[in-house]
Parts: sequence; C-alpha cells; structure tokens
Amino acid sequence: MDLPVDEWKSYILQKWSLLPKSIQVTISTAETLHDLFLHSSPLLQPEDEMFLKRLSGGYLVGKDPDASLFYREKGNQKFQAKDYMGAAVLYSKGVSHSGPSSTDISLCYANRSAALFHLGQYETCLKDIVRAQTHGYPERLQPKLLLRKAECLVTLGRPQEASQTVIDLESSFAAKPTLSASQFQILQRILCRVKVKVQEKENLPEIFPEALTKTFEGVDLREENEQIPGASSSVSLHVDPLKGRYLVATKDILPGELLVKEDAFVSVLNPGEVPLWPRGLESKWDIQVTNGDLHCHRCLRHTLAPVPCDGCSYAKYCSQECMQQAWDRYHSVECSLGALLLTLGLFCHVALRSTLLARFEDVGKVTKKLCGEMSNQGICLPESKNPVQTLKYDLGGEGDKKDKAVETPIPGCDINGKYERNYNAIFHLLPHTENHSPEHKFLCALSVSALCRQLEAAGLQAFTTDLKPTKLKAAEPPVLCAELSVWGVAMLRHMLQLQCNAQAITTIQQTGSKESLITDTRRVRLATALFPVVSLLNHSCSPNTSVSFIGTIATIRASQLIRSGQEILHCYGPHESRMGVAERRQKLRSQYFFDCDCPPCEREKQRPSAGPGRGAFRCHRCRALLQGDDVLSCSGPACMESVSRDLLVSRLQDLQRQVGAAQKHLRNGRLEVAIQLLLGCQSDAESFLSAEHSVVGEIEDALAQAYAALGDWEKSATHLQKSLQVVEVHHGPSSVEMGHELFKLAQVFFNGCAVPEALKTIQKAEKVLLVHYGPWNDEIRELQKMKSCLLDLLPIPVGPKE
Ligand SMILES: [Zn+2]
Ligand SMILES: [Zn+2]
Ligand SMILES: [Zn+2]
Ligand SMILES: [Zn+2]
Repeated sequence: MDLPVDEWKSYILQKWSLLPKSIQVTISTAETLHDLFLHSSPLLQPEDEMFLKRLSGGYLVGKDPDASLFYREKGNQKFQAKDYMGAAVLYSKGVSHSGPSSTDISLCYANRSAALFHLGQYETCLKDIVRAQTHGYPERLQPKLLLRKAECLVTLGRPQEASQTVIDLESSFAAKPTLSASQFQILQRILCRVKVKVQEKENLPEIFPEALTKTFEGVDLREENEQIPGASSSVSLHVDPLKGRYLVATKDILPGELLVKEDAFVSVLNPGEVPLWPRGLESKWDIQVTNGDLHCHRCLRHTLAPVPCDGCSYAKYCSQECMQQAWDRYHSVECSLGALLLTLGLFCHVALRSTLLARFEDVGKVTKKLCGEMSNQGICLPESKNPVQTLKYDLGGEGDKKDKAVETPIPGCDINGKYERNYNAIFHLLPHTENHSPEHKFLCALSVSALCRQLEAAGLQAFTTDLKPTKLKAAEPPVLCAELSVWGVAMLRHMLQLQCNAQAITTIQQTGSKESLITDTRRVRLATALFPVVSLLNHSCSPNTSVSFIGTIATIRASQLIRSGQEILHCYGPHESRMGVAERRQKLRSQYFFDCDCPPCEREKQRPSAGPGRGAFRCHRCRALLQGDDVLSCSGPACMESVSRDLLVSRLQDLQRQVGAAQKHLRNGRLEVAIQLLLGCQSDAESFLSAEHSVVGEIEDALAQAYAALGDWEKSATHLQKSLQVVEVHHGPSSVEMGHELFKLAQVFFNGCAVPEALKTIQKAEKVLLVHYGPWNDEIRELQKMKSCLLDLLPIPVGPKE
C-alpha cells in the first residue's frame, strides 16, 4: 500500500540487476539525492513507462455512466431488504460514476436521500434532496422528493420551512394531474400526516442540536508553546547528535494532559484494498465497501453522503467546500493521475501532494528568512505559487552536505529558533539517504521519474507559467527538463523520508455482525500523513504518551505521570505488549535504522524470558508454570513433568486455528456453533496455558460477545470480566486496550440493567479513555449517555455517603 505495487517493484528490481556494474556503482555512491535522481532518471525507458501504464490500466478511476445504473439497481436491492446503510454506500458509488447535471446523478442523490431518511440522518437527507434538485431531478418525480423534505423538516423541528414545502407540494399536485389515482391517494395520505405534524410542531420553539454547540471543549492546549506551535508549553525542544531532535518535559505532567495538537501538513487517504480489474468476477464494478467510500478524501471525516469530484470516480468529499479546497490545493493536478498514484503507492502520492502544498507557503517570508543564510547562492524568489521555484529555493538548503555551518542550531527551525509547522519543517525531516539500499533508492527514483513524466504530459506548463514551452521541447526526450528534475528531487526526498516519518492516521472501526449488541472494535489505518511536530518525538517500546486522531488532527496525551526533565516518547509501532524484544528490535532497525535501548528492551535483552509469550505454558498435571527453553520442566515442588517447546507451540497453533474458526461463526451469526467451539477451546487452553495467556483472553472475549448476542447479559459479563483480567496483565490497568474492554463491559451491564455495576464500570471506563482520547471521543459520549439514562432510573440517594 505504501510502496508501489509488487509487479512494478519486481520489474524495477530486475531492471536494476541487469544494469552494468559501473552504473550500479555510480547510483549506489551518489552523494546527494540530486545526483541519485540525475543518474537514475534517464534510465527510465519508454517500454518501462508502457509497462507501468498497463499496470495502472487495471484501476477504474474514471467515470463510467453504465456503472451508475448498475450501482443504483444494486442499491435498490439493499433498500428493499431494509439495509439502508448498504444502500446508501451503493448509491454513493453510483453518484461518483455519473457526470454532473445528469439524470443519473440526480436519481442516485434522490435515492440516497431516502436511505438517509430511514437512517435518521435528516440534515444530510435534506442536503441530498437539494443536490438531486440542482442536478435536474425529473419534474414528474418531484412530489415524492418534496414530501420527504417536508417530513425531514418536521422531524428537525423546522415547521415554517415544512409548511412552505407543503404549500409547494400542493401547488405541484394541482399543476400536474399526471399522477395515477392510486399514487395520488398515497401522496394525499402522507401529506395529511405531514400537515398534522407541522401543526403540532408549529407551536413549539425550534430545537437546536445540542451536540453541535460544545464540540472542541477540552481538546485545546492549555498553553501553547512559543517555540513549537501545536505543542504544549510543558515541553521543550532539544537536539543532540545521537538522538536527533526530541521533546522533554519542562514540568511534571499529569496523565491525560494534552501535549501536542497538530493538523497534518499533508495526508492521503488510504483507499483500502482497491481491486484490480479484470478480477474474474461477473461484473467489472465491485460492490465492496472500502475506507475510500466512507471517508472524505480531504478531511477524512466519516460520511454516508459523499459528493464526488466532477472529473473522476475515486475522489469523494464530505462537502462541496472540502471538494473545492482539495481541488484548489492539489486535486486539480492529481485528478487525472489516480490510476498511476494507486500503482505507485501512498508514499509517492504523499510526496507529490507535499510538493503541491508547498506552493501555498508564504514564499516571500521564507525567502527573506533564508536568503540571508544562503546569500552565496544568490537565490531570491518573488512571491509565487510556482512549485518549482519554491522547491528550487529550498533545495539550496538540502542538509545533505553543504551549508551545514549556516544551519540554525536545530534543523527545521527558523533563525529565531522557532519550529514552524510548514514546508520548511517537512523538508528537514531526515531522508536517511545513506541507510536505504541502492535497489530501494533506484525504485523510488524511477517511480518519481515516471510520475514527473506524467505530470509533464498532463500539462505541467499550466502550473509553471514561467517555463517557456520552447525550452521544454529543447530537452532530450528521455532526459527530464531541469525544472522538472527539481520537482523530482524534492519528491524523491519525501519518498525516502516517509519510511521513518510517515504517521498512520488511525480510526476505531466497529466490527462484528450488525446484530451484535456490544461493540467490538479494531483500529484501522485511515491515511498516511506527515506531522512536523509529532515527528519530533522519539520512540519507546513502552511510551509515556498516547496518540489519537480527530480527522486529520493528531492529539498526543500523557498516558502516565511524566516528571520534569523526562523525555516525551511515543511508540512507532513495536510495543512491548505486542512483540518480544528480538522482533521489536529487528523491526525498528530495518524500518527506522536504529537500535532501541528503551528500558523494556534493555531489561528483556538481559532476561529474554520476560517478554510476552514466554512463561505462558503450564503443567497439565499440577498447573504450575513450565520453565526452560527447548525443553520445559514443571516448576511445581513435587512434579517431574517435562515437555518440549515445539510440542507446546504446535498445540498453541492448533488452538489459535480453532479460536479463529469460532470467531468466524460468531461474525456470521452462528452463535450456538461458536459457543460450543469456544467452550472446547476454553477447556483445552486451561490444560496447558496460563490464565493470563492472550489466547485465553481472546476466548473469553468471544464468549462474552456470543452470550451478549443471545441476550444472556449475566454470562456475557462473567466472561468479559475474565478477558478484562488478561488485558490488564498484558497492557496495564490504565491502557487504552483496557479502556475499550471496560467500555464493552459497561455496555453489557447497561443492557442487562445491572445499574450499580454499570455505573461503576462506566466511571472506570470514562477515566481510562479520557486519558487517551480526551472528551471528544465517541465512546466517552456513549458512556455519558448511558450514565444519564441510568441516573434517570435510579432514585436519588438521600442518606449519608459511604
Ligand atoms: Zn471533508
Ligand atoms: Zn478527480
Ligand atoms: Zn525498545
Ligand atoms: Zn507439574
């Protein structure tokens, strides 16, 4: 997903292996990215481009009017089956394939408004009704749409507008005696109902949705850092040759304190697994739902009612405003390149978008600031939105070899030592050029070259207005013109930076079957982004912070007490509760080029048995723990039992397969089968695993879900409490994992009407989740709703408190 598709990767690697040794050496030893790019780029031959073009041809990214009808019909099927969510998504796919102002698009919008109406999303429904009308919804169908509009307005408590709609509706009836008698009767009946409701509501004051009034409360920094905008004043920026740049607490920080709140400089939505066509399916259009169908391609907000780009079928937005912003800032260039960008991967896409966004920096300001530092280069730029000029100018400051002496003390900061969240900061993230393998650098360079050629073909001249077309023509065909190579080098730099600096924007997605009443969630990756301030944090396998996202905004909170003088750390992925020390260190070395020496790593290196998964087996005779490496023996005082590790590991694998099968039954609603299987797993696990083994937790959690789906809340709660114990051992009592598990338990108690237990669990869950997410979190809001509902049920206690 991040890197180019496998076919292109292996094609380029083969090309590399066939290069003459001398050229390989020249590329491997290139001292700057500029040299690397200039030596690699001319090697991209027309046949390579043809191959790439064939690969990209497999992605359907254009509009296909035939698809519109196909998706509308599929959507109607879901609608009839009362799957309104599924219907809305399919209508959205229909919308993206229809041209603007076509009957197709208006019909898709109108149908989607009906689905949204049934989902209770009245505001969005109204928007879709307007969209249907502006795109030329057929006159003869108008009454249906107006009725829906009136019903929405009534429900939203807007009686005046509803009355007006009813008046419009009546006059449209009068004007059109074309309706059949039965249709007319149906409409009359609904109209009567709406009129009654309008009269009822007219006497009531307008209701404002209260959720909208208090959104960002408690998610702002208490005091912003003067040196690092976006960070709290409780931290300061340091640099040293070994650790690079890092943040340190300047005072004691309490758990839950917000330390960083930063909007991404650039982010690209991860479209999910986009199927390639042809796929051997009955249709070339897929009805699979991915992130790309459910989230705004600019702000990442979840939406069931996206509006599509007019020029392609893959870019969809939550609103007209987001679409316009995206178009102005980057999509006007990217629109025609969708298939190529999917083929070349997210890193290439982020690299392109970063350079496009650089056009919007206040070049004049940056120029003045840096011109003094690089007066020897004599570069001075007029204010412009020309990418090449911005980049050329910045490349002068490429920290690879020259200009070290005139750098500010901390890279990425201005001469006053202020770290700004702008392209300058992005540019100074380390590309680690010397650490990447020559093959990888070659792959990145050729991918970027291919992109540059496409940009050129797509009429780059339009963007770099000062480039004389004659000058472009003068360049040798396979050699990129000088200006484009400036752009290429910048993109190559970003591509290499991303391996260490890309931040995944994640979201909690609900899983499990639609019927299940307790929420099971998993964290999914929504986008790949660059955050200049978040990038300042170093890694620990046992971090003292917790990161979460609201759209494209990252928030980092202290997850424990951080003493003044301690470093602020977050986890790049390999966390001590998920992996053993060897695996963690290997991952960090290969992706981030460093050897971790955080406390858990040091501890586990000396005592490898301390890692997760170790010490997890127990004796089947006396239940004492088994100890040892290849052959484990019982630690029980009078027991002589011993067993080989291989045997235990293969038993564990069998068990995991069984649990996986049971979970699948559970997802498909075959509850009894799932429970039988899980109970078997449970007794099997008891015979050789410790009670804290993560698989034991998984089994208990699955059992809890199954019983909840059957409405047996008591049993569900019992199993969930056991799973909670396992989570606590592995992740700690105040971990985010613990928060999610407590949330589930609260739901179970709530549904089972166990009021005191529910209130107690809600309080615990709230406390844990607040530390990690702050108040602006769906689960916390849900907990608060449950709480107020329960408090309404409870008699208010009058006696003295215990
Ligand atoms: Zn948006
Ligand atoms: Zn587009
Ligand atoms: Zn570590
Ligand atoms: Zn024993």
